[in-house]
Amino acid sequence: MIIQRIADIVWHRLTGLMPGELQQTELSWLATPHQHLSLLTRRRATMIVNRVRLFAFLFAVLTPLWSVVDLVVFPFPLWLDLALMRLLACAAFASLLLYYRPNGDLFDAYRAMALLFAIPTAFYVASYTLLGHYQLTGISAAIGAGYAFLPFVLLAGLAIFPLTLLENMVIASPILIAQGIAGSMRWATLDWPSFAGAFWLLVLITGVSTLAGMSQLAFMIALVRQAIRDPLTGVFSRSSGEEVLELQFTIASRSKAALSVAFIDLDHFKSINDKFGHEAGDKTLRDMTHSVSSNLRRGDLLARWGGEEFLLIMPDTDMTQAEAALLRLRNIGFSKRPDGTPLTASIGIAERGADQAVDWKALIDLADQRMYLAKQGGRDRVFSTDAQIVALTR
Ligand code: GH3
Ligand code: MG
Ligand code: MG
Repeated sequence: MIIQRIADIVWHRLTGLMPGELQQTELSWLATPHQHLSLLTRRRATMIVNRVRLFAFLFAVLTPLWSVVDLVVFPFPLWLDLALMRLLACAAFASLLLYYRPNGDLFDAYRAMALLFAIPTAFYVASYTLLGHYQLTGISAAIGAGYAFLPFVLLAGLAIFPLTLLENMVIASPILIAQGIAGSMRWATLDWPSFAGAFWLLVLITGVSTLAGMSQLAFMIALVRQAIRDPLTGVFSRSSGEEVLELQFTIASRSKAALSVAFIDLDHFKSINDKFGHEAGDKTLRDMTHSVSSNLRRGDLLARWGGEEFLLIMPDTDMTQAEAALLRLRNIGFSKRPDGTPLTASIGIAERGADQAVDWKALIDLADQRMYLAKQGGRDRVFSTDAQIVALTR
């Protein structure tokens, strides 16, 4: 009991220290990307690719430029070899810049990032091996020693990406492991205290970069939440609903999966404002979305389409299942009007396959038309095909 209490207090204190802009459910999003909303994932993928491109551009310009310094301090054969390596790296960075454009796909973003880190790593291994063959002194030795700093630069560079803890670990560990292997291969001649010191510094830099990346992610999660939610009700805004539906429609068409939408228009809503005031109307809207949201299936998504109109997006749901879901919601109720009587809605359902919708807009249009049929038919009912009334009476 006491241990449980102490654990609760410690947990409370710890989560209280977490970024204030995050909500409780979003905290775990900092650890792994599995539960991220598709809208967050797409924006994050775009941001990652944009940053990869920015860095690829900077490196493509700076890597060959540094040859000028090399020319001054290094003997000619060494300079020539390094210059060739620099040209190769420059070409690789330039092709990364040309090849990758942001498209919202997270795996493309991962690949772009892996390449961005792989190019300097290859350059580092090659140049470091080459420099090992030369006995440099004075300023040449100083510039030569600078080549050993590349892993530090790479791991510090992680800080510019909005990544989860897991993603940071996956990207940083090959560099750390490579460094460890490089050390163990030179074990006989290794000045191991200085090697261990440098390795420890690498680990510390990785830790700081990881924290920086995660705090960027936290900020991004909060911004995306504000951007995609309707401020009054907290459900998805129309624009993000359209984005999700477009995405789901593409996925469903590709895999020939079911996808249903329901257009929900509240009945006689204006009279709530007229009789009880706008505030009471607002509260009714919040109650309604709260009630519907808490009774949705996982994966379903509710968006506010207009004043008192909502769109319910139901992936992997065929017409029969969608009808059942809407009837269930209707039986639970859309909460109450301020006078205590049930708030009702007119609902139109459409399904991608059954209705042979050509695109997501056609799907919404159908659901919208059926919602009007439900209105004309007397309100408080669900229409799923033009001819058929699914539910008339309670
Ligand atoms: P019907 O059964 O035909 O749908 O009637 P209705 O009154 O629901 O439909 P109508 O389109 O005539 O009116 C919608 C009303 O919704 C008008 C508007 O004042 C109200 N409304 C829209 N947005 C908000 C909002 O954010 N807050 C409040 N309180 N009312 C809103
Ligand atoms: Mg309306
Ligand atoms: Mg209405």
